[in-house]
Amino acid sequence: MSDCVFCKIATRQIESYIIEESENFLAFLDIHPHAPGHTLLIPKNHFKNLSELPENLGEEFVKIAKKTAFLLSKAFKTEHFTIGINQGSLAGQTIDHLHIHFLPRFPNDKGGSIHSVVYNKPEEDLSAIYQKILKVKNES
Ligand code: 5GP
Ligand code: ZN
Repeated sequence: MSDCVFCKIATRQIESYIIEESENFLAFLDIHPHAPGHTLLIPKNHFKNLSELPENLGEEFVKIAKKTAFLLSKAFKTEHFTIGINQGSLAGQTIDHLHIHFLPRFPNDKGGSIHSVVYNKPEEDLSAIYQKILKVKNES
């Protein structure tokens, strides 16, 4: 997409600190790091979110995700990471090009776990929630 920052990073129209690359993916440092080594992994083509990512890229995606984590763990001497996607504006997605955040974690880094991102306690019990999902599954 012509006005997408991450498409421009993928095509080198915008500079970035690229740490790893494969045929269809690129990992580069986030310009406003929330942790040392904060990295974004993107598909080079413009897919808005995980749902749009073609399944045949799955193996390549897992491979580069593992390599990204490996490089960061060695460079920053930590085995601890928060890895996640802000999918959709309500979840905080600001750039509509799929990107996975890799945040190396350190002792006393003042961060929380994924549980601290949201606590919107459901009113329904787990069984009702499960039935809703099963209904969709059975109809699809
Ligand atoms: P989101 O909130 O959409 O999950 O995260 C978007 C991320 O992209 C932010 O963490 C932001 O710092 C990063 N970002 C935005 N523009 C640029 C850029 O031009 N270069 C790099 N390297 N990162 C960017
Ligand atoms: Zn894009």
